[in-house]
Amino acid sequence: MTDRCKQDTFLVQIGNRRDEHHRAVSTPIYFSTAFRHEHIGLQDGYDYTRSANPTRDVLEEAVAELEGGDGAFATSSGMAAVQLVFSLFEKGAHFIASRDIYGGNFRLFEVYEEKYGFRFSYWDGKSYEELAELIEEDTQAIFIETPTNPLMQTTDLEKVSEITKAHNILHIVDNTLFTPYVQKPLEIGADIVIHSATKYLAGHNDVLAGLVISKGEAITEELAFLQNSAGAVLSPYDCWSLIRGMKTLALRMRQHETNAKKVVEYLEQHPLVTDVYYPGRSGMVSFEITEEALVEPFLQQLKLFTFAESLGGVESFLTYPVTQTHMDIPEEVRLSYGLSNRLLRASVGIEHEDDIIEDLEQALAHIATLEVKHG
Ligand SMILES: *Cc1c(COP(=O)(O)O)cnc(C)c1O
Repeated sequence: MTDRCKQDTFLVQIGNRRDEHHRAVSTPIYFSTAFRHEHIGLQDGYDYTRSANPTRDVLEEAVAELEGGDGAFATSSGMAAVQLVFSLFEKGAHFIASRDIYGGNFRLFEVYEEKYGFRFSYWDGKSYEELAELIEEDTQAIFIETPTNPLMQTTDLEKVSEITKAHNILHIVDNTLFTPYVQKPLEIGADIVIHSATKYLAGHNDVLAGLVISKGEAITEELAFLQNSAGAVLSPYDCWSLIRGMKTLALRMRQHETNAKKVVEYLEQHPLVTDVYYPGRSGMVSFEITEEALVEPFLQQLKLFTFAESLGGVESFLTYPVTQTHMDIPEEVRLSYGLSNRLLRASVGIEHEDDIIEDLEQALAHIATLEVKHG
C-alpha cells in the first residue's frame, strides 16, 4: 500500500473501485447467504456467506493491507476475534499475557483455564528478561496489549518479537487502543494482530466487530479453516458500516490525539488529580483523583463526557474500570498492579478541545467543594 499511496488516502478509498458491474462508489452490501453455481464444480469464488462474502472480502483485504498481514478475518465482535485466535491451540497449552489487560480478555482466559486446560502466566511489562524466564516447555504464545488497559503502559514489541522468535512461539498483539494508524505490530515481528473494531476503527459507537490479521501462510490458512468451521463472522451490513467508519480513521485519530494531549496537560496541573497515564499517542487518558468517594459525584457532574463503557468513538466517554470494563478482575489482583478504586479512564473524543476541558474543569470544581466539606 505504502508504495502506491499514503495510509490516509488508502483508508478513504476502501472499496471505491470494487464494483465492476455498476461502478458504485460505496461498496455494495451483499446480503445474499447463497451464491448460484453455474454447473457442478463450477463457481466463481462465492458459494455460502459464512465461507466468504464479497462485502466482507473488501473489508478483510483492506485491513490485511493496512496492518501488513497475509490475511484478515472479520468477526462478530472483538471477543470472537480473541476466541478465533485461541482456537489455534490445543489443551495443555501455556500462554503469557500482559498483566494489565482488558477485563473481557482476562475473563475469557479464566474460562479457558477452567474448561479447556489452558494455563496463563501474567507479565507486568517491566523486565524483558523476566518475560523470557516465564516461558515454559508448553508455552505457545505471548499475548500483548500495548498500551495496557487501563494503565496505558507501552510495551516494546520489537523486544517481545526477539523473544518469541528465539523460542519459536507466537507473538499476538491486541492493537485495539493504538490502531494501525499509530502502530503496525506485524511489521515489527508480531505474528497475529487482534482488534476490537468496535472501538476506534468503527469509531461511532454503533458497530460491534472484531478483526484478526495474520502473517505467514500456514497460520493464515489455519485461521481461515477455523473461521469457517466455527462461524462467528461479521455480517455484510456490519462490514459495510465498519468500512465507512474506517474511511475517516486518520482524520479522527489525529483529532483524538490532539485533544487527549490537551486533556493530559490540563489534568497534570490539577490539585485533585494525583496521577495521569497517557501512552503518548492516540486518545486514551487514565487518571486518578484524590479520593474514591469523589468518583461518583465527579461522574454525576459531567455534562459533555458520557459515563459509559467503551472507547474510541467520536464522543468523549468516561469509564470507571473498577465497576465496568474490569469488574471481573478480583480486587486484590487489580490493586496488586495498580488499578485502584480512584482510577478513571477517559476516551477523549473529537469535540472542540475547549468544551472538553471546560467539562472536566466544572466537574473537578464541583468535587473540590465536596472535598472541603469532607476535610
Ligand atoms: C473492547 C475490547 C475488546 C473486546 O471487544 P468487543 O468488540 O467488545 O467484543 C478486546 N480488547 C480490547 C483492548 C478492548 O478494548
